[in-house]
Amino acid sequence: MRAVVFEEFGQAARVRDLPDPAPSGAGVVVRVEATGLCRSDWHGWMGHDPDIVLPHVPGHELAGVIEETGPGVRNWRVGDRVTVPFVCACGRCPACASGAQQVCEHQTQPGFTHWGSFAEYVALEQADVNLVAVPEGLSSATAAGLGCRFATAFRAVVGQGRVAPGEWVAVHGCGGVGLSAVMIAVACGARVVAVDVSQRALELARAFGAAECVDASAHPSGAGEAVRELTGGGVHLSLDALGSPVTCSASVRSLRRQGRHVQVGLLPPATGDPVVPMARVIGLELEILGSHGMAAHDYPPMMDMVRAGTLRPDLLVTSTITLDAAPAALTAMGTAPGAGVTIIEPAREA
Ligand SMILES: [Zn+2]
Ligand SMILES: [Zn+2]
Repeated sequence: MRAVVFEEFGQAARVRDLPDPAPSGAGVVVRVEATGLCRSDWHGWMGHDPDIVLPHVPGHELAGVIEETGPGVRNWRVGDRVTVPFVCACGRCPACASGAQQVCEHQTQPGFTHWGSFAEYVALEQADVNLVAVPEGLSSATAAGLGCRFATAFRAVVGQGRVAPGEWVAVHGCGGVGLSAVMIAVACGARVVAVDVSQRALELARAFGAAECVDASAHPSGAGEAVRELTGGGVHLSLDALGSPVTCSASVRSLRRQGRHVQVGLLPPATGDPVVPMARVIGLELEILGSHGMAAHDYPPMMDMVRAGTLRPDLLVTSTITLDAAPAALTAMGTAPGAGVTIIEPAREA
């Protein structure tokens, strides 16, 4: 198969021919129709993820068609069109038994713990626990983004964040996860304050229904106070959708009394642990929550909203590229993470 592979961290990835993967007993091999390019892929390529063993094929946001199933797979057939959460669970540990597959103790992540989907084929583990059917009418390009940024944003806003109609919600960082969170919070009846350093990102956030926009470049030490002023004392729910010490602290400082902060942007070890203003957490009785993907069995309410057109993940896709264009696009994520989502289609001709 053709795949994007890198042999050293931070050194140019290349498209090469590699052996086709084979399914494990409970796993499947999927022919990749579309795979999203995500900032996590860039972090992995830079060497910020300790799970990655070289040489490596990135890619964890995918949709495609089952090509082959392992002998232990019960619920899926060759030809089924599927997607997966980026956290693939084991299905057997205590976390999985409690329904919290997104924090599975023995999780696998395509593109991190094993070769991913910047390739014609990808192997996925524990198919019966992790696969999600892609409904007819939903393109693979759109479905590819669901497993990472969109499902992650959905769980952060609706699950962990417990958003309620009429609440103020701040979203710090309006890249793929942030814009998804804006759209989801608006669909749930919240009033959204979008925060980003990029005018383009703020324009998109406004197009997705953000009521207020804050240019974070005017607030180098964090936009928390600006958000509190705009909302008459702070938001009920705030997300750090970027993942940096500045946006994390700004998100906590955006909250009103008894507000909820959800950390959803990944904080790579290289940036160090953020300083959380714990005196505010005590004095205002704030809640500090984490959100890590979403289990496959939690997809149905999100899929219902997508099917009904209440949520439009298709609008987040801003470009579609070939596998050959993927190495350069991966490199560019570092300097220009950009607004919107780039989808790689391995079968696409230049
Ligand atoms: Zn991702
Ligand atoms: Zn598990």
